[in-house]
Amino acid sequence: MQNISLNSPITEIKSIGYSYASKLENINISTVRDLLFHIPSRYQDTSQISTVKDFLEKGDGTFLCQLKNIKTIYTKRRKVFTKATAFDDTSKIEVLWFNQPYLEKTLKEDIQYILDGKITKKDGRKVLYSPKYEIFKGEDKQVHLGKLTTIYPETKGVSSKWIRSKIKLLERRVGKIVKDPLDDKILKENNLLDLQNSIKQIHFPKDIKDIEQARERLAFDEMLSVAFKIEKDVLENKSKESFAQEIKTKKISSFLKSLPYELTKDQKKAYSDILEDLQEKTPMNRLLNGDVGSGKTVVAAVAILNTLENNKSAIVMAPTTVLAQQHYKTFKEIFKNFNIPIELCISEEKIKQDKQTRLIIGTHAILYKDKLPDIGLLIVDEEHRFGVNQRKQLLDLKTSPHFLSMTATPIPRSLTKLIYGEIDISTIKEMPKERIAIQTFYTPFKKRLDCFKWVAEKVNKENAQAFFVYPLIEESEKISAKSVIQEFEELNTGVFKNLKVDFLHGKMKDTEKNNILEEFRKGKIDVLISTSVIEVGIDIPSATIMVIENAERFGLAQLHQLRGRVGRGSKQSYCFVIPGVDSSNEALERLKYFSKHNSGFDVAEYDLNRRGPGEVYGLRQSGIPQFKVAQLRDLDLLKKARKVAKKLIREDNCDVEKIKQNLFK
Ligand code: ADP
Ligand code: MG
Repeated sequence: MQNISLNSPITEIKSIGYSYASKLENINISTVRDLLFHIPSRYQDTSQISTVKDFLEKGDGTFLCQLKNIKTIYTKRRKVFTKATAFDDTSKIEVLWFNQPYLEKTLKEDIQYILDGKITKKDGRKVLYSPKYEIFKGEDKQVHLGKLTTIYPETKGVSSKWIRSKIKLLERRVGKIVKDPLDDKILKENNLLDLQNSIKQIHFPKDIKDIEQARERLAFDEMLSVAFKIEKDVLENKSKESFAQEIKTKKISSFLKSLPYELTKDQKKAYSDILEDLQEKTPMNRLLNGDVGSGKTVVAAVAILNTLENNKSAIVMAPTTVLAQQHYKTFKEIFKNFNIPIELCISEEKIKQDKQTRLIIGTHAILYKDKLPDIGLLIVDEEHRFGVNQRKQLLDLKTSPHFLSMTATPIPRSLTKLIYGEIDISTIKEMPKERIAIQTFYTPFKKRLDCFKWVAEKVNKENAQAFFVYPLIEESEKISAKSVIQEFEELNTGVFKNLKVDFLHGKMKDTEKNNILEEFRKGKIDVLISTSVIEVGIDIPSATIMVIENAERFGLAQLHQLRGRVGRGSKQSYCFVIPGVDSSNEALERLKYFSKHNSGFDVAEYDLNRRGPGEVYGLRQSGIPQFKVAQLRDLDLLKKARKVAKKLIREDNCDVEKIKQNLFK
């Protein structure tokens, strides 16, 4: 323990052996640093210490007592328990611990204990089973009971008490092994506690104020980590060079004239933002954020056209092959009068090694191409699904193309920086004029058959087409399509008997998926049952009904994406959200809110405020930082952190990597 440092393996701590080390891996603890930064998920206040009499009256809590008659009892069924009487001057109570025969030796008479637990009534007697216990040493000296104590994320065989006691072993060394990477001046200016005391206080707080102070500092460090990334990106982007394009006004206006509609104001604003960026040598780094169906594709087309006219190639990357193929079709159609070479690139093998200037549309298979033409523009659709690392990889193209990211996830502006770093944003809020707003209905579980009948009638009488979406979990994805359809049909007691029903799920091969979608598009399928694979981008204008079962299991943003699969044609579209039987009231409220709000930005904001950012994006895919302490919404903290990061980077004697190493894993 003498030379222990933050990077020491956990086994260097006294009494942590390999068996514990392997258990601790489950909660991502393998070094001393991991242990010290294992942040309590909550605190338990056992500082209100009662007498035995008061405890008996209250029924639970913490009390001070002595023990007598401590003995081990073996039952006929070979069970062991330790029995004792806890008492003080006011009263007494029987205490029992199970399967801990060593307790007879550990527990002593004639010393004071703090016990914590809950009374159970057994044959009319009050008994205290398996209370937590700690020797009473005086308020300041308590580790586990009689104070504010930490409750940690635990794992099998590793309790909070165990974690706490190991951290306690390190407490006195924290001052030595933890170095604060921030100097006193910065701490003072930002009103922050030093790191050493923050760590002590987060684990062993005297009071709530201690916890708040510590959390603020630790949260600041997490934000600082993000802030460094942002500032580094800013610097990098500034130092990169892209090709400054000329604006081909004539070509663009003849393109716009070729469209069967006029662009909305937001679309016009978006493409002129983009054209402005393309004229610069500094690479464009822009997010095009617009609701499903708001018409992002045509905006992208303007940028692509201009790029090709400048003799540079462009890439459009989609998250799935289905989407890539769809884009391929769309762009073929959109550019049909413009003689633009378009290549579809969705598998690693069939790659054309060609220098010809062209538009390449595909999935990440493009990344494996070694000989790309001269890329002037990189567009990534539904980009958050790639995750940040892949995006980095994309940006590391030697040529530094202009970069446009498109997403239909209505990202609240407040969060874009956290996900994308320093990025410019164009938002399309206004929908194309002739679009008829989708009618959304919240359908209580008991009314779902009525809903199904209504759908069947719509299909029979008006040739409507409907999506039915189920949130199948991984396991059940394996169930064959057939059995799901069967179940579906039985479930609905034949409401859809005369209709053509088919099924789409994530485990299907792309060709199969495409075939089914194509059939659906041609109207050969009436009802398409699906898992949420259809969530992103699928464009089938003839489908007008979307029914979502167990809708409570989706975040609102995801529901909104699903809803966006309909309402793409000229007919009135409908969306039904049906909760499962045992949904919570909170879930029902959410669905009701959803049924009354058509704007993706509204629903995203709702989920952000009520359920946290995970619901807004599917946290993991988004590349959004996973904080232990900081709140994603706390933009003031990010602002503060960015100031500090800028300053630290500017000071020439300051080694960014070193600071980061000190601060962050
Ligand atoms: P998204 O933003 O979801 O990618 P798309 O670009 O796929 O939306 O556009 C959805 C549909 O709206 C397409 O069929 C497209 O042709 C059409 N569209 C786009 N802009 C307009 C407009 N200004 N007026 C009418 N229809 C439009
Ligand atoms: Mg799109």
